[in-house]
Amino acid sequence: MNILFDVDGVLADYVFAFTKEASILGYLQEPYDTNNNPCWSFGHILTEEKQAVIQGIVEHDPKWWTRLEPLISQQLFRDINYLQVLNQVFFCTNRFGINPQQQTKYWLIVHGIVNPAVILSKRKDLVAEALNIDYSIEDNVEKANNICGMASLQSRKSYLLDRPYNRKDRIESLRIVKTVEEFLDDVKRGA
Ligand SMILES: [Mg+2]
Repeated sequence: MNILFDVDGVLADYVFAFTKEASILGYLQEPYDTNNNPCWSFGHILTEEKQAVIQGIVEHDPKWWTRLEPLISQQLFRDINYLQVLNQVFFCTNRFGINPQQQTKYWLIVHGIVNPAVILSKRKDLVAEALNIDYSIEDNVEKANNICGMASLQSRKSYLLDRPYNRKDRIESLRIVKTVEEFLDDVKRGA
């Protein structure tokens, strides 16, 4: 089977790293993590200018993405790595900055994924179509919907990881999971 993982919001805590930069700059009192993120964007707490300052920090730091906290346990990373024995596993992200693909690879390797296949793209639906993905997991509702929409094969399954910020606009054919573990269980069972 072909399996596609989103990285930020599913495996890596981008929200915590981003809001931590904001708190270091004095824009926010405290950082918060992905699980406590109420909205998809940071517009409700940070002006465009302040967000641009943080994006500039990310863009100029060659190791920024390598320092993100994981959102899943080491055991789950091992399970994902084990999936690679009999399946094609891909990690797709739209990260930016200096060598984001290499930084992402480094981060996945540190967490136990052997030789991770990292794809940089903002069109995850097209990636899913081109790679003939059977199972995908994503925390962005629009992207998860689009992967569903591109499903030319009935067997393709698009999962949305339930988060406070993605509860609106879900299409009916999406599969919703509370955890990455639930997703892996479905993949293993071929559900
Ligand atoms: Mg994401």
